[in-house]
Formats: sequence, C-alpha cells, structure tokens
Amino acid sequence: MAKKHTGQCACGAITFAFDTDPDFVAVCHCLDCKTASGGEAATFFGVPEADFTLISGQPKAFHYIAQSGKGLDRNFCADCGARVFTSNLESFPGTVFVQLGSLDNRAGIAPKLEMFTKRRLDWAKPLDLPQFTDMPH
Ligand SMILES: [Zn+2]
Ligand SMILES: [Zn+2]
Repeated sequence: MAKKHTGQCACGAITFAFDTDPDFVAVCHCLDCKTASGGEAATFFGVPEADFTLISGQPKAFHYIAQSGKGLDRNFCADCGARVFTSNLESFPGTVFVQLGSLDNRAGIAPKLEMFTKRRLDWAKPLDLPQFTDMPH
C-alpha cells in the first residue's frame, strides 16, 4: 500500500515515503543547519526509521560530527545536490530527520518550535512558537 507522505530530491532521482504524521517539526538555527542547508535555518522533522522507506535512487551519505560531538549521516542527491534526510543520528537512534522542503506536499506540516535560537541572525524574526536557545530537552 502506498504510504501517506512522499518526498524527493530536486531532480527526482531519490524518492521516499512514510506514514507517520510529522510531530517533532523544528526550525533549527544551529551552525550545522546553516552550513549544510546554505540558509539561515533548516526545517525538519523526525520519522521512525522503521517507517521511512527509500523508494528510488541512491542517496550519498556524508558522515559528520555535529557541534554536539554526536555523529550523523547527511544524505543528499549526488546528481542535483539536494539535501534530503539525515540518518544514523547518535543523539536520536531509530529516527530519520527529513527536510521539510523535500516533501511533495509541504502544506499542513508546520513547525512546532524553534531551536538553537542563540544562533539566529539578527534579521530573522522569531515565529510565534516555543523558543529554545539550544536543543530542547
Ligand atoms: Zn536529485
Ligand atoms: Zn540544526
């Protein structure tokens, strides 16, 4: 049966699907998110690894040690360069973090909180959401 949510990279080579309705949806202003996304912040959410299904394509994994000192794999498309999801997170075992922008249907999935707001740039206005200076506990 087709899964509820689907997503892909910018060129469409990588496609994926999952059923879990995103709950932990975060706008993260940390330096890792800035440099990896190329923007001021990244918006992503957690999906159980058991639910997350790669349908096509071969994401390239870049293993990385975050500023927290914990390892993770950033998965991106080697053809179009789009960052798609993050896996093997030492800090969140069993969870894959999906980049909101890679979803086919982004409407209806809104952030629940902002984190690493200590790294937010001055021109970025806080959203009307719970604010966390670092990682929420
Ligand atoms: Zn691609
Ligand atoms: Zn971050």
